[in-house]
Amino acid sequence: MATIVQKFGGTSVGTIERIKRVAERAVKTHRAGHKVVVVVSAMSGETNRLLGLAGQLTDAPHHREIDVLVSSGEQVSIGLVALACCQMGAEARSYLGHQVRITTDDAHGMARIRDIDADSVVKALDRGEIVVVAGFQGVNADGGITTLGRGGSDLSAVAMAAAVKADVCEIYTDVDGIYTTDPRVVKEAQKIERITFQEMLELASLGAKVLQTRSVEFAMKYKVPIHVRSSFDDSEGSWVVPEEEGMEGAVVTGVAFDRNTAKLTVLDVPDKPGTVAALLGPLGEAGINVDVIIQNTASDGRTDVTFTVSQTEMERAVALADGVAKQLGANGVTADAHVAKVSVVGAGMRSEAGVAVKMFTHLGTAGVNIQLISTSEIKISCIVDENFTELAVRVLHDAFRLHEPTGAAAE
Ligand code: ASP
Ligand code: MG
Repeated sequence: MATIVQKFGGTSVGTIERIKRVAERAVKTHRAGHKVVVVVSAMSGETNRLLGLAGQLTDAPHHREIDVLVSSGEQVSIGLVALACCQMGAEARSYLGHQVRITTDDAHGMARIRDIDADSVVKALDRGEIVVVAGFQGVNADGGITTLGRGGSDLSAVAMAAAVKADVCEIYTDVDGIYTTDPRVVKEAQKIERITFQEMLELASLGAKVLQTRSVEFAMKYKVPIHVRSSFDDSEGSWVVPEEEGMEGAVVTGVAFDRNTAKLTVLDVPDKPGTVAALLGPLGEAGINVDVIIQNTASDGRTDVTFTVSQTEMERAVALADGVAKQLGANGVTADAHVAKVSVVGAGMRSEAGVAVKMFTHLGTAGVNIQLISTSEIKISCIVDENFTELAVRVLHDAFRLHEPTGAAAE
């Protein structure tokens, strides 16, 4: 007998027909003798619809009230899923975030989970009930409703799995697993059977959309195995697991890309202590995430500083950087929204020399110009002209032989 968390995304609960299928799966798992926690998102499109309603009233950020509004989508789905399970003769009960109870900080719209007191859930599981939990929401110390950021139901599911010490957190979605790259760009992309938390974390934060980044961080911290699989059939999906489980580290496991990238350059920044901090500090305070940062060697006491932000934040970033550039006596800011980040990720890279050169060589041969480079232990990212995104992804997918079935790619 195992304890299993099953998370269903918006498309998987998008219609009453699909909700019945979710209930069937939960009830079947329960009847096979397992303890089952179901975590659900709002029905597809619902969160955006609710945000749209708010948008018709205001563009001021009343984050507390927005959270009250958008969290209602998940309340509808848990009610429907629990009803459907009961209809099939199972004992099922729905729980909102504050009933579980999932306590968060006060950061409405992107709250962080502080603690889960899953006592009542554990008791319900022991009584033989199917527990249906609202994803995406929590409660702050004042009892106010908070939400965990877009795609946050993944995080709710992983956190519930950690809290009830589940054997697995199953993420049911409209694709049947994690792929070596987006199959819409490279049709030979392969389903990955097993991937480490760290690789998945890099892929997710580099633009792969299948799992929310914070949920992978959480899973890694609490060692919750994740099984990403299709909600439409019973096929085996992809497992995200700790590294020590005897994996052959592929040199490159996947290729990720992110078109939501923009490049800013601050020209002729005075070369003296504290200028980069002065430049980037205000962006950090404004909640803008700065990614690749390059500072050139100074000449004549001046240097250019280039960095990337997400394209959606470019305008705010330019305004802030412009202000500081003036104060510092720099020579203005240029911005380019027309860039993308293309990355290769693989745990085997740690022990393998020459991966970066291979990447650069293949991009060069294909005529893709590299504008910026950044690396970590297990990833290499290049900023390229956005028009070359798909070409770069295809060339790299091919170069690292990711089209070959899993295992073969490890060279
Ligand atoms: N309903 C929320 C969203 O659309 C949370 C989720 O689906 O994971 O972002
Ligand atoms: Mg999602």
